[in-house]
Amino acid sequence: MASSAIMNTYGTRTTTLTRGEGVYVWDSEGRRYLDAVSGIAVCGLGHCHPAVTDAICQQASTLLHCSNLYLIEPQLALGEALIQASGMDKAFFSNSGAEANEAALKIARKYGGEKGIASPEVITTTNSFHGRTMATLSATGNEKIKKGFAPYLSGFVHAEFNSIDAILAAANDNTVAVMIEPVQGEGGVNVPDDQYLPQLRQLCDEKGWLLILDEIQTGNGRTGTYFAFQHYGFFPDVLTTAKGLGNGVPIGACLTHGPASDILQPGNHGSTFGGNPLATKTALAVVEQITKDGFLTHVQTMGELLLAAFKETLGETAGVTHIRGKGLMLGIELDRPCGDLVEIAKLNHLLINVTAGNTIRLLPPLIINEEQVQEIVSTVTKIVQDFLNTEN
Ligand SMILES: *Cc1c(COP(=O)(O)O)cnc(C)c1O
Repeated sequence: MASSAIMNTYGTRTTTLTRGEGVYVWDSEGRRYLDAVSGIAVCGLGHCHPAVTDAICQQASTLLHCSNLYLIEPQLALGEALIQASGMDKAFFSNSGAEANEAALKIARKYGGEKGIASPEVITTTNSFHGRTMATLSATGNEKIKKGFAPYLSGFVHAEFNSIDAILAAANDNTVAVMIEPVQGEGGVNVPDDQYLPQLRQLCDEKGWLLILDEIQTGNGRTGTYFAFQHYGFFPDVLTTAKGLGNGVPIGACLTHGPASDILQPGNHGSTFGGNPLATKTALAVVEQITKDGFLTHVQTMGELLLAAFKETLGETAGVTHIRGKGLMLGIELDRPCGDLVEIAKLNHLLINVTAGNTIRLLPPLIINEEQVQEIVSTVTKIVQDFLNTEN
């Protein structure tokens, strides 16, 4: 279908999805696909989860919007639920990931200003992705995405991912924060060494820098804990999340821990839609599902199964350079560009994503079962082997 009224920001799109149920989606021709993309780590509970649908319908007939001039019951309840799930202290709600990061960056700048630093700097990492607004684009460590949008905001320095030395080399007296994805998503599902994040936490403590974790993609159960930082024994000062929080209803959140919670004061920040009744009631239903007994254990089990199965089928295959992941966030890196695999997978009734040019990224719904994991493994294994054979 021609989409002439739509600006060409997403390139050529060939498939129209019209319906979803659980881990499956259907296109306009009636073909069914196993969805290993989940709307880019959004529909963790699968498509049209009854608890989510109920929350939306209920709230739509109760109160959709009223603005933050008034208290909003589901907003307060969602704040409580996220604090309970994470051990963080306070929440600010936005409508997207980039906006959650904007809140985090404003906290970092005000934190610096209050310390008497006139030009505060935030260190981010190479291959990072933090969003498409001007501040988050400036924070992003990927020249391809940034190209054409200079001048960028000042106050961002980039350091190599997974290297404490690189962070130290990028630091100076103006440094106020380090902002990082616990697992880089768009950058290729890059998982750091086990020691890296705890060491970074320690460094930030020593230097008086805020540790800002961008958990927009890794949050809400994706890596097998509610937030990825919970794999380690520390708290970030600031955490952002979005994608999986609303299971498809747009919502983001910026959470704070400790003194960072008191930096933004009345009048400092806000959003017309942020935390509105519809979005927060829906996200509350999502958090309730993810925090149910056994849910996150299931994600861990399925994640381990998926990773182990791929190591078995593709681990020794020439042309496959890395297989890595955490929970149900998996990357299979090839030694060559492999964007064509997206269409090939579709012909095999499977939706996959390719990121960073040469990495297959799998982000299946968290409710996926063992049989569906096996289906992903057999389809991806087959198309990767065929792809590598015909290319050689
Ligand atoms: C998707 C993503 C963003 C941007 O979120 P939007 O909702 O698209 O603004 C920022 N950071 C990370 C790590 C992401 O995965």
